[in-house]
Amino acid sequence: MSVDTSARRVITLIAGSGVVHLPGDPGFDSARTSWNLAVDQRPAAVAEPRTTRDVAAAVRSARRAGLRVAAQSTGHNAGPLAAQDLSDVMIVRTGALDGVSIDPERRVARVGGGSIWAPVVAAAGAHGLAALHGSSPDVGVAGYSLGGGLGWYARQLGMQANSLTAVVMVTTDGDLIRADQHENSDLFWALRGAGGNFGVVTALEFRLHPIDSTYAGWLVWDVARAIEVLERYEEWAAQAPDEVTTSFRILNVPPLPQIPEPLRGRSLVVIDGAVLGSDERGSEILRALRALRPEIDTFGRLPAPALARLHMDPVGPTPSVGSSAVLGQLGRAGIDAFVERAGVGPHSGLITAELRQLGGAVGRPAIDGGALSHLEGHYAFMSVGVAATPERTAASHAATHGLVDALRPWSTRQNYLGFAESRVPAGTAFDEDRLDLLRAVRAAYDPDDVMVANHRLD
Ligand SMILES: Cc1cc2nc3c(=O)[nH]c(=O)nc-3n(C[C@H](O)[C@H](O)[C@H](O)COP(=O)(O)OP(=O)(O)OC[C@H]3O[C@@H](n4cnc5c(N)ncnc54)[C@H](O)[C@@H]3O)c2cc1C
Repeated sequence: MSVDTSARRVITLIAGSGVVHLPGDPGFDSARTSWNLAVDQRPAAVAEPRTTRDVAAAVRSARRAGLRVAAQSTGHNAGPLAAQDLSDVMIVRTGALDGVSIDPERRVARVGGGSIWAPVVAAAGAHGLAALHGSSPDVGVAGYSLGGGLGWYARQLGMQANSLTAVVMVTTDGDLIRADQHENSDLFWALRGAGGNFGVVTALEFRLHPIDSTYAGWLVWDVARAIEVLERYEEWAAQAPDEVTTSFRILNVPPLPQIPEPLRGRSLVVIDGAVLGSDERGSEILRALRALRPEIDTFGRLPAPALARLHMDPVGPTPSVGSSAVLGQLGRAGIDAFVERAGVGPHSGLITAELRQLGGAVGRPAIDGGALSHLEGHYAFMSVGVAATPERTAASHAATHGLVDALRPWSTRQNYLGFAESRVPAGTAFDEDRLDLLRAVRAAYDPDDVMVANHRLD
């Protein structure tokens, strides 16, 4: 839908102090650019509110102009949103709502609906506290938390969605409401897992945890050792205590000059992660992995805020494609399938194929949890490829999707929406009962079907 002149007037007049960009405006192309540069999202309008009032004004103006609304903080998961028809959608980009405040007494953080993790981790760390952030410092707190949130403390402390204590949201009528265990508790339940389907979140409150340091680091082997290491890892991971959360990756390191020579252009096996415990306890837990004599071993005491960069995820806008699945135990056949398709060198376009260790608290339903409070299975798998040119994109797409297809026999059939970079049926993320409940909450809070989420409930 193109925005006609009268709608244009409505949008620009009502949108408050924030800016609204329409196609043809000088700022439109930069405003519609998401973190994932490989995604070309083409909405009818993009709003960049600076305050909660601006958000309400933007939503009202979108509705008056006959547009639907999609909330987006960074665009890390822009792929499934852009795969939908956005020609009648205003994207409300919440990045400027980036306030962070910490209450060290109550061990609670309150952050804006556009905040990223890096400043939150730093502010909490100044009080000896830690949030259940993930591997990337610039992922948005909103999308991550509302989609579940698997981080380095997950097997001990669960998913981040379970640490949320309140969510503040602008409804599709432009009203500001709070959802917590007492107020709008049905909405609070639904938001914790089905995120952007109900309104534009302007603030989140969540519990912090008294963690000032951990035993964390990397173990690295050449890819020639991949089968041997993954066999040992699978056995180890299934019995590891809850204090440890790790990831197993095959990394195809690009031959870039800024990468140190011993790693440049190589395919490597990397196990990284964190132990919530003393150095002695950490060493004891990692003994079976270290017995495989890694080429590099950086495990040691790290201040908790350093975990936000432990995984060395790309910071800043990046062109990438990815695929994901939740997997059960692989066994020898699954390990062979994984290694054969993942350890293919940097020329393949595949940068990483990763198994995030599940189990522990991640595998247990949380008391008072939301729509997604746990994940069953042994691994959350994801693979990522570069998408800098159309040729690279095609190669990476084939590599990442080929890998997920090859692993299909070990898939649990559940999708973790947090890792899903393309559209997946809602029925693969929530069972029928939950899906019915989620749809009922959506009908109550968004009866006119205004919100367009990355992962929808249909
Ligand atoms: C490099 C990288 C590392 C990652 N690491 C991890 C990890 O360690 N653990 C993990 O669990 N996940 C991880 N993820 C997945 C990540 O959590 C999801 O992609 C998440 O959706 C990103 O949230 P965002 O707000 O940054 O992205 P966006 O694309 O801005 O948002 C994604 C969706 O969340 C909803 N949303 C966002 N903001 C709002 C808002 N203000 N109000 C209402 N709805 C909103 C919308 O539906 C939106 O489409 C990673 C992803 C990448 C690309």
